[in-house]
Amino acid sequence: MSLRALLVTVLLSILITTSAVVVLSFLFLQEQLFTVFPSELVSQASNSLFVLFTWQGLGIILLTASMMLGLYVLLERLLVSRIRALLKAMTVFAESGERIVLSNTSSTPKEIWELVDVFDKIVEKVEASHKKDLEVSRVKSDFISTAAHQLRTPLTGIRWALEALEKSDLSDELKSLVQNAKDKSHELVSIVGTLLDISAIESGKYKYVFTALDVESVAEEVAKDFSPMAQKALISVYVERGTSNLPKVRADKERIKWILNNLVENAIRYTPEKGSVRIHGEVHGSKLLFMVRDTGIGIGKQDKNNIFERFYRAQNAIAVQTGGNGLGLYIARTVATDHGGDLTFAPNEDGIGTTFTLSLPIAVP
Ligand code: ADP
Repeated sequence: MSLRALLVTVLLSILITTSAVVVLSFLFLQEQLFTVFPSELVSQASNSLFVLFTWQGLGIILLTASMMLGLYVLLERLLVSRIRALLKAMTVFAESGERIVLSNTSSTPKEIWELVDVFDKIVEKVEASHKKDLEVSRVKSDFISTAAHQLRTPLTGIRWALEALEKSDLSDELKSLVQNAKDKSHELVSIVGTLLDISAIESGKYKYVFTALDVESVAEEVAKDFSPMAQKALISVYVERGTSNLPKVRADKERIKWILNNLVENAIRYTPEKGSVRIHGEVHGSKLLFMVRDTGIGIGKQDKNNIFERFYRAQNAIAVQTGGNGLGLYIARTVATDHGGDLTFAPNEDGIGTTFTLSLPIAVP
């Protein structure tokens, strides 16, 4: 029950009780008259009493009603509206982090003043700790970016040296060692690239180029790019188009392709032979949902809250794929939310495999 409804109920109850007391007093006195006065006088006295009680009772009831109304207005202004304003400020802060400054007047009750004061202190504390988090995150991003830049040049040098060495006259054993070292250096260069991507996205330095994008075509490009890898793993990757064309979304093509690459690559890597990866889209309100559904190893309940954390890899994934850095999904989700969309996943209804859903806002024509 709301405070306002409670107030109205209490005030109405007082009014009804007052009216009941007036009526019951009249009935009681009327009954007493029979015992005090001779019967011939009772009717006359009863009439006079009725007139007296009617006017007096009406007066009392009207007075009580106007007092109750006054009290309601006073409590509404002093209590209910202030508590509601505080509640609104709290809700806005909790939902958007925006701060609404509440003005306190001298008529505000002391307790409400104190409540507003406590809320202000909480807001200040949260804002200070958020500022500190941002600063730590900026320093971390700067460090990652500097370290990644520093690593990139020598790594590229190592890769070139290995490529040159590979072409020279080497024994089969040495050739395989060099090939292995070259593969590892490729992996390292790709990790360094990912780290640079993370720091650019986190620090807001990455500038998105938003256009009206046909994601289904991008998905087809991705499926085609991955078909050699899929064929090798005996997995079918396909885009399932509906009967009508899907609307375009407001998105950065390069980044969305990056997300789809990541989802499709994961789907292939974490799906055993003879499995399938199906990509399809559907409209949901103002969003376009893009699903990548595999018949793979799935994501266990114990991992479901950590999959989007940086560097997190589930045990079942590590068991089937030693390579991987646990950064792809973290970046993919950050990019999706930067677009005003999201990236989520759910186990398939038949219990085999996972479906990742990328939602993006439909472009306004
Ligand atoms: P990586 O694949 O390099 O480990 P990601 O950030 O792309 O990093 O994925 C994080 C983790 O999420 C993976 O290590 C794996 O445990 C899990 N995962 C991602 N995609 C799938 C999938 N399609 N099926 C099962 N597990 C997945």
